[in-house]
Amino acid sequence: QARLRFAPSPTGYLHLGGLRTALFNHLYARKLKGKWILRIEDTDQNRYVPGAVEALQRTLEWAKLDYDEGPGRQGAAHGPYVQSERLDIYQRYADRLLQSGKAYRDFRAEVAQDVHAPKSKGIPLREHYLPPDEDEARRLIREGKPFVVRLKAETDAISHQDLVYGDIHFPADPNRAGTEDPILMKSSGWPTYHLANVIDDHEMGITHVLRGEEWLPSLPKHLWLYRALGLEPPKFAHLPLLVNPDGSKLSKRMGDVRVEDYMAKGLEPEALNNFVALMGYNHIAARSDAKEEGSHSNFEVMSMHEMIEGFDIANVSHSRAAVDLSKLYFLNGRHMALKLDDGEGGGQRELVDKVKPLLAAEFPEVQEMADERLVELLQITKGTSPTYLDFTHSVQPLLRVPTWTSSSSLSLFRSTSAISMHYAVCIEQLLSLLRHLPSDAESGPIAQEDASKLLKDLAKSVAESLHAPRDERQELVEQGGKRAARKRANVMLPIRFALTARDKGPTLAEIISWLGKQGCIDRLEMALK
Ligand code: GLU
Repeated sequence: QARLRFAPSPTGYLHLGGLRTALFNHLYARKLKGKWILRIEDTDQNRYVPGAVEALQRTLEWAKLDYDEGPGRQGAAHGPYVQSERLDIYQRYADRLLQSGKAYRDFRAEVAQDVHAPKSKGIPLREHYLPPDEDEARRLIREGKPFVVRLKAETDAISHQDLVYGDIHFPADPNRAGTEDPILMKSSGWPTYHLANVIDDHEMGITHVLRGEEWLPSLPKHLWLYRALGLEPPKFAHLPLLVNPDGSKLSKRMGDVRVEDYMAKGLEPEALNNFVALMGYNHIAARSDAKEEGSHSNFEVMSMHEMIEGFDIANVSHSRAAVDLSKLYFLNGRHMALKLDDGEGGGQRELVDKVKPLLAAEFPEVQEMADERLVELLQITKGTSPTYLDFTHSVQPLLRVPTWTSSSSLSLFRSTSAISMHYAVCIEQLLSLLRHLPSDAESGPIAQEDASKLLKDLAKSVAESLHAPRDERQELVEQGGKRAARKRANVMLPIRFALTARDKGPTLAEIISWLGKQGCIDRLEMALK
């Protein structure tokens, strides 16, 4: 059975790159019908940030990336899943390597001095150092002399088949010109990342390692360790780095890099997952039907299920992926729409539960509103709500009579008498059409088809009114409205202002349908005053 892991270090918040690594582990594990675990790699206590583990878990939960094993998960056989709780295990393996002569203790003051920093300056050549024998070592340890444990680096070439990068060849280094003996244990008695990482992947039965490209240079060390321990390495897949659009290292400069920032912006987890899934992944190859589906953007919209079904490690690209934030809001709109349509699967419930308290805080009647009516309201306004947080603004004109005076756009309509007259004619015509609607539509909403028909009739009657016998008023209307009436939008815009005092929003048919006959009449009459 495939076993994968996401192994973040608790050094801060989860970044987009980390989210993508976690997501790809999730996708691949589910695709392979295997398991994936969360492992906290906190052996670098200098870089430990309090609260980071909790924040990581919160973020993964928000993203619906449900690992099978990890800290706090019951019944997991391979725990503990936090490296600082596994120190005895690393010690055991270090001893084993010391005994077999694959590793040695390095007591040189300049490398052992700093208890935490494993990095030494220059390359401490093994040839320049004769490690003490067992007795001498024991004596030095008793004296409290600090030391680090080093692995004897190999000098021959090493090749590996990476699932993403293919054949990787690290050339031989017979003179050890660039090869340092990697430190396995720091003088503090804590393991380095390399030792703990390799031991845990082995101990936890990991079959596939999916991690960022930045770990590729560490691969030889890891492969040496597997060899020294006589263990079979897992398969490796290194994921290309995420970069700024200009190719530079992903940074705050291009926008937010922390997942928590996107949570705060009100983005749907499905949209952010979808967004990072497209980065460094050739989804066009992944979708054989892509060509027939027309618009590039539409087939990029994928549910978790579709992402799992379509996941193929061979489609992970070799080239670095530039983060294009413009796509994120498009995806968010699509995922909100999908949720609103997902009555059965719970997506609709989830969104309604999120939006309702926000709306109710501003519009108390929403609390009592029937779910269907609320869903209709969200359906109508989703197009003008980039995230669920924006619904409060978008629904405003549908729930409250607008204040026209505050609308600068409206003053444009009233600025010249000609246009103003055109404006009045549009409204009057619609009023009369509305008044002729059958009375059973008196209070309730108007069906959208009926609203559409109403608007068609309106466009026609405004155009016709321009050909009616001239009188003084007519002349003004003609000046303001002749060209206007020919273009449907120029009839619709005044109506839109009259009904909502905004120049953007849902379609007019949707607005009219929502407000209902009386609601429209009231607003139109007020707008005329
Ligand atoms: N702890 C490493 C990190 O923070 C994990 C590297 C790996 O997955 O092997 O990225």
